[in-house]
Amino acid sequence: MKSKEDAPHPLGQCPVCRTSYAAASVAPISQRGQTSLLHLTCDSCQHAMILSLRRSPQGLVCAGIVTDCSAEDAKRFASSEPISVDDVIEAHEALQLDKFPRSV
Ligand SMILES: [Zn+2]
Repeated sequence: MKSKEDAPHPLGQCPVCRTSYAAASVAPISQRGQTSLLHLTCDSCQHAMILSLRRSPQGLVCAGIVTDCSAEDAKRFASSEPISVDDVIEAHEALQLDKFPRSV
C-alpha cells in the first residue's frame, strides 16, 4: 500500500523547483461561485504562485501563474475595484511633466 507521502499532491508541484506543493504555504485569496483563488508560496525556493481552481461539470479546472505578489497583496487586489477609463486618464494627466513644479 502506498503511503500518504507517495501520493501526488492535489495542487501539483512548484513550476520553478519541482518541489511538491505539500511543502508550501497556502493562503485562500477569494471565493466566487465555483472559482477559488489560492496563493501558494513554495517552502523550498520561496517563489509564489496564484492558482485558480474552478469546479465544473467536467471536473476541476486549474490554472496558475507565477507571481511576485505576496498573499496580502493578492487579497488586497482581489477585493479592490477594477481600474476604470477615468483612472487611466487621471494617471496620464498626473504624469504630465509640465504639471510638476520645476525644481531650481
Ligand atoms: Zn519551488
